[in-house]
Amino acid sequence: ARKFFVGGNFKMNGTIESIKAIVKNLNEAQLDPNVEVVIAPPALYLLLVREHLKKELEVAAQNVFDRPNGAFTGEISVSQLQDSGINWTILGHSERRTILGETDEVVASKTKFATEGGVSVIWCCGESLEEREAGQTVAVVEKQLAALKAKIGDWSKVIIAYEPIWAIGTGKVATVQQAQEVHEAIRGWLKTNVSDKVAEETRILYGGSVNGKNCKELAKEKDIDGFLVGGASLKPEFTDIINSNL
Ligand code: 13P
Repeated sequence: ARKFFVGGNFKMNGTIESIKAIVKNLNEAQLDPNVEVVIAPPALYLLLVREHLKKELEVAAQNVFDRPNGAFTGEISVSQLQDSGINWTILGHSERRTILGETDEVVASKTKFATEGGVSVIWCCGESLEEREAGQTVAVVEKQLAALKAKIGDWSKVIIAYEPIWAIGTGKVATVQQAQEVHEAIRGWLKTNVSDKVAEETRILYGGSVNGKNCKELAKEKDIDGFLVGGASLKPEFTDIINSNL
């Protein structure tokens, strides 16, 4: 069975004080021991969080570069993450794709570099509102998956996060049916294009306006293996999302 997974993507939010308070809250909360929890603060706070967060919980970067080291101003390498005790990164978030111009190929290349270097990846995909309304949702996600498949061989360090862009930060959560339908399509694609084993074992998270109230219904669906949470990961209700199955 796939272990339920909840990620918290802080995006470009927080201060030393507010992030320490979130860590303290998580350290003291009663969390479902059957859930894997990973939080992703801004890069500047990764070391602080790793130092203070209890060891049962993991820390992720929000991005990493696809070169080993060198003259790449502003970037962080996979080995620098590991040197800092950070074993996870988010890659291909829609904000990086749309605002920072990362292509499917760039995201795939970064995913290859991270996983081959031993850093696990929360790889994000998802369609815009226009694409959904044009009936292209599954085609868009499959194109993103195909670009990933062209670059990577080992899927054991990849978690997929389906994040419909129209549901991110909007309060407009996908319906349980809309989410399950795309998750099932992604698992079907993995089965056809990668292997039965990868389809069976890869966790597929839903992201987009998940909160302490809507998480329980979503968590019941057979192809929803957890969440990638933005805004609500900064609030006390994040622990309710982690405990969705209790
Ligand atoms: P919200 O939960 O704020 O909608 O953000 C979702 C997201 O983008 C997580 O990566």
